[in-house]
Amino acid sequence: MVVAMIALSLGLALPKTVAPSRTGSGARMSATLYDVPVSNHGARVRLLLYKAGLEGHVNVVSPMEIGGLRSEQYLALNPQGKMPLLVDEDGSVTWEADAICRHLLDKHASDALRPADLRARTTSELLCRLHDAYLGPIQGCLYKPAPPFGRFGTRREALKELVAQLAVAESLCDATGPYLTGASFTLADATLFPTLVFVAHMLPKFDESLVRADDAPPAAPRDAAAEVLGPRLLAYWAHMTTKDAEGMRVRDEIMSGLNAWDAKGRWEPIAGAGARDDAPGTLFDMILAGDIPSDAVYEDDVCYGFRDINPVAPTHVLLIPKKRDGLTQLGVATAEHAATLGHMMAVAAPAVAKAEGLADFRVVTNSGEGACQSVFYLHLHVIGGRPLSWPPG
Ligand code: 5GP
Repeated sequence: MVVAMIALSLGLALPKTVAPSRTGSGARMSATLYDVPVSNHGARVRLLLYKAGLEGHVNVVSPMEIGGLRSEQYLALNPQGKMPLLVDEDGSVTWEADAICRHLLDKHASDALRPADLRARTTSELLCRLHDAYLGPIQGCLYKPAPPFGRFGTRREALKELVAQLAVAESLCDATGPYLTGASFTLADATLFPTLVFVAHMLPKFDESLVRADDAPPAAPRDAAAEVLGPRLLAYWAHMTTKDAEGMRVRDEIMSGLNAWDAKGRWEPIAGAGARDDAPGTLFDMILAGDIPSDAVYEDDVCYGFRDINPVAPTHVLLIPKKRDGLTQLGVATAEHAATLGHMMAVAAPAVAKAEGLADFRVVTNSGEGACQSVFYLHLHVIGGRPLSWPPG
């Protein structure tokens, strides 16, 4: 119902009955698009409708009108249970924003958004593919509470990839603009712009985690668009948000939803884990930085292993994540840390044991002073090389 209220506040039509007719009998006057303003995929279709002058042909309603994305009625129309979904006047369905956009242009024999110039047309296609294949699957790292984000197990990795893919988009953009492929607005603009609204609004929430390699504290408040977008995308962003009427309209529609997310504290469980680490530095930070020497045993992209200065067994190796990401101790771990912890347990610790020639070994982590934790940077003790008794003291 909240989504319905948002839609109403934006003046999006919400008819009482929207059950599609598969027979075509009693055909409605317009097709139905199931969508809510905050969806960037739905916003792609709305931007196309506004730009191609097709708004009057499509009635936009919330999926809640037929019970929501998980309802039997909705899943019968779109087995993916996702927005947007288009139901034509004859009851035939199309889902996935890209397919819906192309269907609408073909259905209405519109040349809008598909430039005649071969190079611009091909670049537009390329940007659409780039968005759907490389940005779409990981964009959830900007707002989902927990990984995975596409193929990435940590928000940090996914955010880095997002920034890398935006750099690819930058390299494909037309240098003169004002649109992505030149003078005219294309499907690529409808596709990429709503996602840029997400990026510009959400990236600052994760500021220190990725944009700068050195992890230096950012000057606040940051302008994420200015930091992450290259000069072409930045000029494009400025055009779309200050000069392009339909762009500004869609931006405002999306922002109405995103502001509601902000007001409901959507980022509270996100900002504390995986992205921000306000806890004091420890000697393990100094060991990682090389300021305190250590006897290295193991290293990969995720973690570092070194010999304990005060070993309790012939093998006593400490394994620490290379990025603490708020993981001062196991007791504060969240789903954000699952990939890091899983890697340390399932990959790094057995690798250390193997390298040390240990058939039997123990992996321990002390969480909290009452459990004898002395360094508040999560670490696994990998111990072996002698018979180990149980229970530990
Ligand atoms: P905790 O007590 O927090 O579970 O484990 C901390 C571990 O760090 C202890 O086993 C301690 O011996 C080890 N440790 C403390 N200072 C240093 C140091 O400067 N270098 C190394 N390699 N280990 C240290």
